[in-house]
Amino acid sequence: MDISYIINELGEEREHYFNAVAPPIIQTSNFASRTVEDLRQKMLQEPEATLYTRGNNPTVTMLEMKIAALEGAEHAIAFGSGMAAVSAAVLSQLGAGDHVVSVQKPYSWTNALMQKFLPRFGVDVTMVDGTAAANYRNAIRPNTKILYLESPNSYTFELQDIEAVVAIAKEHGLVTIIDNSFASPINQNPIAMGVDIVVHSATKYIGGHSDTMGGIVCGRREVVNKIFVSEFMPLGAVLSPHDAWLLLRGLRTLPVRMARVAETTRQVVAWLEGQPKVEQVLFPFLPSHPQYELAKKQLRNNTGQFSILLKTDDIGKVELFCNSLQHFLMAASWGGHESLIFPLAASYAPGKLKPKLPFNLVRFYIGLEDAEYLIRDIEQALEKI
Ligand SMILES: *Cc1c(COP(=O)(O)O)cnc(C)c1O
Repeated sequence: MDISYIINELGEEREHYFNAVAPPIIQTSNFASRTVEDLRQKMLQEPEATLYTRGNNPTVTMLEMKIAALEGAEHAIAFGSGMAAVSAAVLSQLGAGDHVVSVQKPYSWTNALMQKFLPRFGVDVTMVDGTAAANYRNAIRPNTKILYLESPNSYTFELQDIEAVVAIAKEHGLVTIIDNSFASPINQNPIAMGVDIVVHSATKYIGGHSDTMGGIVCGRREVVNKIFVSEFMPLGAVLSPHDAWLLLRGLRTLPVRMARVAETTRQVVAWLEGQPKVEQVLFPFLPSHPQYELAKKQLRNNTGQFSILLKTDDIGKVELFCNSLQHFLMAASWGGHESLIFPLAASYAPGKLKPKLPFNLVRFYIGLEDAEYLIRDIEQALEKI
């Protein structure tokens, strides 16, 4: 399917709503049936019938259809946040006594799910360095159920060789789940590489305007429908019709934004690489990066996230650099119109456990501003240190 078709036409039934170009927000909790037979049929088709908005709602369904198609998946369910999608996907494959092998350093709350939440229910998790697929194989136990990927992973952007991990999972009859938020459905489609379940934080690139939260789970119809009954309906992390509508609006410009962000980010990174006060730029699309070839193989293009290590052992200088930036907001998240930084230095506090990542690491997200405008800002902040 053409991306242009998916974004502009798929799932839009304009003749049903006055040929309005923008879809309606079906802001209702409930849907009525005319006859007992009508209701009976809907209940029989529950995972795909429109009965109650915690299950299905036409505005949300339109979003699910489009993202499933962008990912090359049979089906999708939208959730109220990315974490709701990650948790539902992971829980759907587990029972007490099972074991998960996860990439190390995933998104922070995925890490909490793996290390704190799952053990409460008798599930063991082994976190592995995902840069060598063999580390996944070596961690497999008789009770392993899931190989969990996030490629590239958060903050340091190491890649996992998706096809190699899938091959290991297939040998052992395991389910693969990948968090594909980093790449967006435009730049990486893991289902074509054999992954079973793809999850996204739609809050990031899909929404794209820093005004909505959402998540999505994509996979085979049978797998997604099982999640519908076993996790989605009982846990109730529903996406509101209005938020689905905002995410649909974000989708309209997703390819354009991804292309713009990719280009600007390459310019900013190229400039940063030559800076004497920058020790290292962590960005898989640099030819000097050890996983450059794999990045080019798995991803269609770079995105807007990278990190730098400032060349200093003085946390005060890191703080001065960050505080001096005028055009980067200091905030979590990424994927919106606005450029952001997230300094690891903020995780360093007296009396707190020392974080695993160094204090001179600053994560960047490049938004839709001009490259020169952002480079000039970084330049003046570097001059201050
Ligand atoms: C933000 C993020 C999430 C969580 O998504 P929310 O929408 O904030 O719940 C999950 N994975 C990754 C990689 C993220 O960056």
